[in-house]
Amino acid sequence: MKKIITVTTILAVMICTNTFAYARESSQPSPTPLYTEEPTQPSPMPLYTEEPAQPSPTPLQPSPTPTQPSPTPLQPSPTPLQPSPTPELSPTLVYAVGSELMCINDEVINMWERPFVENEITFVPLRNVVESIGGRADYIEETHMIIASFKDRSYSVSADDPRIHVYNGVSFVPVRELCETLGFSVGWNDGIVMICEGSAAVGDEAALNYKTMLNYTGYTDIYYTPRRVVNPYVTYSYEQMNSDIAFLQKMYPDLISVFSIGKTTEGRDMTAFTLGKGDKNIILCGAMHAREYISSVFLMYMADTYALAYTNNESRDGYNFREALDSVKFIIVPMVNPDGINLVQNGYESTKNPDYIRSLPTNEYGYRGWKATANGVDLNNNFDVLWYSKGGSPSFGGYSGAYAASEPETRAMQDLINNTNFEIFASFHSQGQVIYWMDPNCNQDLIGKFNPYIDRICSETGFEKMPSDGDYGYSGYMTDYVRYYKEKMAMTIELCPYTGDYPYPESDFDTVAYPVRNIGLIFADIVKYL
Ligand SMILES: [Zn+2]
Repeated sequence: MKKIITVTTILAVMICTNTFAYARESSQPSPTPLYTEEPTQPSPMPLYTEEPAQPSPTPLQPSPTPTQPSPTPLQPSPTPLQPSPTPELSPTLVYAVGSELMCINDEVINMWERPFVENEITFVPLRNVVESIGGRADYIEETHMIIASFKDRSYSVSADDPRIHVYNGVSFVPVRELCETLGFSVGWNDGIVMICEGSAAVGDEAALNYKTMLNYTGYTDIYYTPRRVVNPYVTYSYEQMNSDIAFLQKMYPDLISVFSIGKTTEGRDMTAFTLGKGDKNIILCGAMHAREYISSVFLMYMADTYALAYTNNESRDGYNFREALDSVKFIIVPMVNPDGINLVQNGYESTKNPDYIRSLPTNEYGYRGWKATANGVDLNNNFDVLWYSKGGSPSFGGYSGAYAASEPETRAMQDLINNTNFEIFASFHSQGQVIYWMDPNCNQDLIGKFNPYIDRICSETGFEKMPSDGDYGYSGYMTDYVRYYKEKMAMTIELCPYTGDYPYPESDFDTVAYPVRNIGLIFADIVKYL
């Protein structure tokens, strides 16, 4: 898949004379280890060889080639009295803003990422630059530091630093800051960025040639070829989710728009996005129970899959993705309880109030078994519908709160429900492969209305339909709230086989996702009849 276009005319237009003189005269192989394997990007499902650091998304892609030692790094010269050989210069790199193609000396290579401009600063993919010039890039998980080194120089920046941008697991950094620190000069001409060891710059005439070679399009913001974004096989963090959502919005600006429905107790945005162009709305939300965060990545994976299939005009199992997303708009809140998810994934020390969290009871799995918020309130008992106090006190799960809708996450979801016209509401949990769809407290005429559609969903997914007259004991449930006040179809979908009161393993994601792969398409079809 590596795409190399040999450009024979390039040497005629080189003005970075020292570098290219070396390239022309030397018959030796390039001292720089270049990409000898295809990068991970073009793969339809990018798999990662290591888990992303928590809580930050992985800011560096796995190296496509292990860093190799310099050809002659530390050996003393055997003939010290001989004139020293011509110093080896790194190859000259040329990037074009908005183009995935880059030039390394006389080769054009697809790096699968596009440099972009933001606030008049050009951002380039750090690992690509550093490894292309023969340096190395490392990520130190413990400190979140990204370190680029070349010869005796190094550049380091925190992955949390606002100067860097992480898209799709790739870190983009300001090109001058990176390269000048490493002893390179940077030339710029109308979207063409040239990087040379020592001092050199690109001129007008040369830039014109590069524009053709590099397929320069004139984009000055990120533009990506549609491809898979979400990796569902790793522990899916809030930060990774936000990074993926931002990336998807850039990739599908006509299909996806991002907003926040409110703030959590710890101040996190409750990120939401719309997917689709239709005028009938369907609300999907996930992970109101912290340990059930696999429901978040399921919704993200679904959005990723549907948007890509829309772009490619695909059909599956009799459903056409374009038809679906042209007729409905999904409003997706993948992570209703990000504070709780942070606690499950990163422990009590990562919370805003660790002493308080540590004073609350956990189940036998410790914080991995947490369902509640950072206040110890179970959101699915906290909604303002026939709420009554169950007593008890804040804990890992089951506490309904001091009063109805006491939690900001509850109020944000209630506001979304009350301020949106929608036809279907689905809350995704993770335990049991069953669907709860009716309760004894709402208008019971809804049973007859919803029953055939629930039967269809259960038939197509293989999930079990729970009884409509189940004894819920008390309410405060989110989907009861929807039925009670909005009289709309609302269901709780338990995605996974039941394993235990701890997170379902991501390694088994495919088993989880397959039966419900068409759930959004089924909803989009049912909406026609509601
Ligand atoms: Zn749950």
